[in-house]
Amino acid sequence: MKQLDVIIIGAGAAGLMCAIEAGKRGRKVLILDHANKAGKKILMSGGGRCNFTNYNVEADNYISNNPHFCKSAISRYNQWQFIELVEQYGIAYHQREHGQLFCDHSSKDILSMLLNEADKYNVKILLNRSIQLISKKTDNDYRVKSSWHQYQCCSLVIASGGLSIPKMGASPFGYKIAEQFGLDIISTSAGLVPFTLHQHDKEQFEKLSGISVNCIVSSNNMQFKENILFTHRGLSGPAILQISSYWQAGDEVTINFLPDTSLKDLLSSTILQHPQQILKTILTQLLPKRLVTTLFDTSILETKLKTLSTLQINFIINQLHNWTIKPNGTEGYRTAEVTRGGINCNQLSSKTMQVNTHQGLYFIGEVLDVTGWLGGYNFQWAWSSGWCAGQYV
Ligand SMILES: Cc1cc2nc3c(=O)[nH]c(=O)nc-3n(C[C@H](O)[C@H](O)[C@H](O)COP(=O)(O)OP(=O)(O)OC[C@H]3O[C@@H](n4cnc5c(N)ncnc54)[C@H](O)[C@@H]3O)c2cc1C
Repeated sequence: MKQLDVIIIGAGAAGLMCAIEAGKRGRKVLILDHANKAGKKILMSGGGRCNFTNYNVEADNYISNNPHFCKSAISRYNQWQFIELVEQYGIAYHQREHGQLFCDHSSKDILSMLLNEADKYNVKILLNRSIQLISKKTDNDYRVKSSWHQYQCCSLVIASGGLSIPKMGASPFGYKIAEQFGLDIISTSAGLVPFTLHQHDKEQFEKLSGISVNCIVSSNNMQFKENILFTHRGLSGPAILQISSYWQAGDEVTINFLPDTSLKDLLSSTILQHPQQILKTILTQLLPKRLVTTLFDTSILETKLKTLSTLQINFIINQLHNWTIKPNGTEGYRTAEVTRGGINCNQLSSKTMQVNTHQGLYFIGEVLDVTGWLGGYNFQWAWSSGWCAGQYV
């Protein structure tokens, strides 16, 4: 049996960060992963440019049953510390909307940086290893049986991520281990994910596929102002992905297609100035023609402004400022960027990520019930939680 100080299951963002920090402290660290490559999600993230953090990271950007849990980690290892590491490596990056930071060149830069750091501190990474059994002898004495070897370690860290994109190696492993150790799970579902529509809506709106509009999208008392995108399956785009993490099956989603315009004021003034103008002319100056002709009947679109009734005006305003749709579901883990829910954080120390009832057992990253917004928040959670555990394992 091979002896180690620390074994980490999962060579993703959180596992690598934890390993680096533990390695810096002189701990003998081994990472085991069943995939054939470390950091696959880092590589595919941000459209290949890895949105590695955000200038505006705060606890409010995370969803959890315990909204306080993430506070300690994100303040002890914050976005500025990760940015400093990125700058030390001379990785060129840029800011996009809402403080999101992306690599100029490639996500590979972030993964190479992490692998280089891991190597510097003698972290060993073994890939293509499936874990067959995990057991605990006593506190700080854990056994791990992989497809090739048996190991013993003082600290066992589960960094196996969530359920999104099974093709990339996602598995329910972390939740199963949590259950084995008597921990409860906040029920999981796909987050940051496109919506699918009921058949009648799908048939009506699939012709809008490819249209993108800047909107305010609301559901469940949350709202996001960003683009939405009509797709041949339903609705996507950043505002939809964001709201999907707050949406529950059966909820309506409300879309304000004109977040920066008061249609009421605009119609009132245009009725006075151009009473002969037809409705279609004014609406197609504001929104894509295909969207306008899908949301309204030809009869109303061809109506002269001066002949619109109050009822019709209210309908038009409501249709564009408060359009509601009830998605029939989401595209699920196949395309989701994250998993909502996960291991109940109340059972862990927010300072160390150690399980309260099992000394030496840690959970970090997405496997926990901490779900970030779109925009680099999920990686920051992985870096922060991994860093914290790395100080104690
Ligand atoms: C398409 C896509 C794009 C994304 N883009 C961004 C972005 O730009 N910015 C952002 O902040 N977030 C992004 N995310 C989310 C982000 O990738 C995750 O939140 C983050 O990777 C979680 O880190 P983690 O280390 O907890 O888990 P992961 O990175 O998922 O790592 C888990 C590791 O555990 C391994 N593993 C799983 N099961 C087992 C098992 N049974 N045995 C052994 N090993 C196992 C996996 O192979 C994997 O290597 C994106 C996600 C996706 C899917």
